[in-house]
Amino acid sequence: MNNSVITFPLPANEPVKTYLAGSPERVALDKELERQSKLVIDIPIIIGGKEIRTGDTGEVRCPHDHGHVLATYHKVGKKEVELAITTAMEAWKQWSQTPWTTRAAIVMKMAHLLATKYRPILTAACMLGQSKNIYQAEIDSACETIDFFRYNVHYASKIYAMQPKDGDGQLNHTEYRPLEGFVLAVTPFNFTSIASNLCMTPVLMGNVALWKPSTTALLSNYYLMQLYKEAGLPDGVVNFLPGSGALIGEVATASRHFAGIHFTGSTATFNTLWSQACAGLGKYVSYPRLVGETGGKDFIFVHPSADAKAVATAAFCGAFEFQGQKCSAASRMYIPKSLWPDVLADIKRMAAEVKMGDVMDPANFINAVIDEASFDKCKSYIDFARQSADAEVVLGGNCDKSVGWFVEPTIIETSNPHFKSMEEEIFGPVLTVYPYDDEKLDETVTLCENTSPYGLTGAVFGRDRMAVESITAKLRYCAGNFYINDKPTGAVVGMQPFGGARASGTNDKAGGEFNLIRWIIPRVIKETLLSPTDYRYSYMK
Ligand code: NAD
Repeated sequence: MNNSVITFPLPANEPVKTYLAGSPERVALDKELERQSKLVIDIPIIIGGKEIRTGDTGEVRCPHDHGHVLATYHKVGKKEVELAITTAMEAWKQWSQTPWTTRAAIVMKMAHLLATKYRPILTAACMLGQSKNIYQAEIDSACETIDFFRYNVHYASKIYAMQPKDGDGQLNHTEYRPLEGFVLAVTPFNFTSIASNLCMTPVLMGNVALWKPSTTALLSNYYLMQLYKEAGLPDGVVNFLPGSGALIGEVATASRHFAGIHFTGSTATFNTLWSQACAGLGKYVSYPRLVGETGGKDFIFVHPSADAKAVATAAFCGAFEFQGQKCSAASRMYIPKSLWPDVLADIKRMAAEVKMGDVMDPANFINAVIDEASFDKCKSYIDFARQSADAEVVLGGNCDKSVGWFVEPTIIETSNPHFKSMEEEIFGPVLTVYPYDDEKLDETVTLCENTSPYGLTGAVFGRDRMAVESITAKLRYCAGNFYINDKPTGAVVGMQPFGGARASGTNDKAGGEFNLIRWIIPRVIKETLLSPTDYRYSYMK
């Protein structure tokens, strides 16, 4: 038995590559984009390392070119989900006993493979399948995914090192056991890194997983499965189950071995899964761990002392990068009337400069939204604003689905702080702005606090630091990630552990110790060196 004490020091963040024309990374990426563009791959279900094809298939298409089929995939039925549970529980016997340093070594190898051989593969798949430009794909499917691997290993080493003190004549230690069952990882379309992390965090801590990938992120997610295998992850530790989330959720939460859910997606879906888990109570071996990061209605609050140019840049990037499909994307803004004309003019200038289109053209800053349902949803909010007396579309608003699901960066200006799009999550490139009277600062801060059920991200802008301090204090519960003079997106692993409370989730902070702790059940062991042989208290002797 290897008895080394291995520590994993705090890693550096994976550098973001530039992809300048002619750079090695750009040459490799272009080649890979061309290769993947020409293929129509067949994505199987993977259970216990075996590929299963049910023949009940769906298609994966490019959102920016929906006539282009990238892959077909096979959907699971009840039988396959049940097989996945049995297989995962079989794998659990060995994986849950595997030394944590071996598990860590496999995860570190995943990071290394992704930083090298798999980088162009995942980046290209993320661009084509999820419609991200080069930069957005690089920071997601390469950098953040690698960071999650490396940082989680470091945090795991800190957790395992946390031990109770010994007493007189006794030795104490904590054994950090994996959960007694399987974890259901249900993942969203918008971040490949989140998809990977929702499986790999529990797995690093010794758990096994059923992975329900998002149907609209299957291409990159399937390549992740190949990466895991090549890194040495034993078969059956992660079981890949494309198909209906409703079916998978229902069968998984009905199992006695259901030990937890690691979810990112909409609040409504998490609520359904939570209810199903409650309905199963009494049946499970242990109380399941329910960890979910959900929706948001993220805000920018601008104080009259703010720098208009900084606000405009933050609003533009925070609301429109990756078509506003980041859970942290700015979707409502409160701005003093004195600043709004300058800020709007600057945003209009940026919008006039950027291009929208296919990811294959690196000049395109904006690409497509993920699918037709998302396109229709964005359009319905824009149409609603156009027909409303208390709102006006002051930027963009055009939608075109003839080739891809394209929605222009759009700003709705409203005089009603409770306007529909000030309150509801749209999850697209639509920012609603409420210009307020400069002298009504305090009541507008209160509005910002009370308007939305969510609590994910928010930002305050102002050069008056004392005013910023007071707003930050008043908005204490509005956001789990709060920014001062910066856009509310772009959290980096190790720097801004991410997550929100209220209707935005359980706030277990992906990319930090808090999250890892959810996937273990500690056993504290006390060993008495000389066991007592007399029941009497000292003074009775
Ligand atoms: P979604 O809820 O539609 O889907 C998420 C996953 O759940 C998908 O894999 C889907 O197939 C599955 N699913 C759907 N219905 C299900 C059911 N009844 N039972 C089990 N699984 C089911 O979300 P999405 O469209 O993929 O992602 C967008 C949402 O995710 C937004 O609300 C966004 O705010 C949120 N999000 C939050 C964070 C965060 O950190 N808070 C991060 C990313 C995305």
